[in-house]
Amino acid sequence: MRLKRHKDYKRYMNMYCQTFHFRKPYQVLVDGDFIQAALDQRMDLRTMIPTVLCDASKQMVTPCTMALLKSRGDEGSGAFLVSKRFEKRRCKHQEAVDEALCISEIISTSNPHNYVVATQSKKLRVQLAQVPGVPLLYINRANMILEPPSDASLSAGKKIESDKTHASNKELNTLKAVKVTALGKVSVDPKLIKKIDQKKEIKKQKMEIKKAKIMKKRMGPKEPNPLSVKKKKKTLATPPSKATSATTTTTTNQSTNAPTIENKKRPANSNDAATEGSAPEKKKRKRRKSKSASSATAAGTTGGSESS
Ligand SMILES: [Zn+2]
Repeated sequence: MRLKRHKDYKRYMNMYCQTFHFRKPYQVLVDGDFIQAALDQRMDLRTMIPTVLCDASKQMVTPCTMALLKSRGDEGSGAFLVSKRFEKRRCKHQEAVDEALCISEIISTSNPHNYVVATQSKKLRVQLAQVPGVPLLYINRANMILEPPSDASLSAGKKIESDKTHASNKELNTLKAVKVTALGKVSVDPKLIKKIDQKKEIKKQKMEIKKAKIMKKRMGPKEPNPLSVKKKKKTLATPPSKATSATTTTTTNQSTNAPTIENKKRPANSNDAATEGSAPEKKKRKRRKSKSASSATAAGTTGGSESS
């Protein structure tokens, strides 16, 4: 049973060394109750902790823990003497605070200095189990126990391992660009890497364009119904032709504009035609004047002109 436990502890510590980069000798933060429990069980911490951790260790105490042991008076005098032999680990507290708070502040959220924490407080152990990479020690009767790695530690370890084992995208690209000659020489083409990167970029751009097109199609046509647009054109085209009949660019009133089109064609060919073309324009102006002068009679004259 003992041998099995020893093997387990060795495995745990190996895990901490490999994934969280723990170094030997291990740094062990010890709290007051832990020292007291060891004294009660006549346990020498300087020999017991290294045997449990399966390697050399350095015991450390914070000033807050020492202050707590000192405050206990005669009851804590033995533990206080033991703590004096340990290395002091400075904390930022000017006045002593609760040692659990002090230790948890040192460990913080990631245990940057890779401490092993030896504490009898179950509450603190549960709290520190949330932080990945914190080995926890406690004394149960005559046994010192190293807690198995917490779920947080295991999941963090798995992630780190997967990052180590799986190749990154950059590495995959270089692997694609590796060339092995018949003689067994291995060479990497930087040009090939560039090409692969460029191809990927082009693919990305194409995908983006496709996406944009799909989005446009989904949005639907913003223009109105084409049939309705045609009707509007007709209504818009007719009024200016009536108003500016003198210019006569449109072909709405076939009977009145027929001579004007002829006028336009003719001047390019001959000067005589131009003189002929100018004549009907004058006539038209006269007709207008007649329209304004007398409506009834003018209507008759215009009708006659249109027919002729
Ligand atoms: Zn402190």
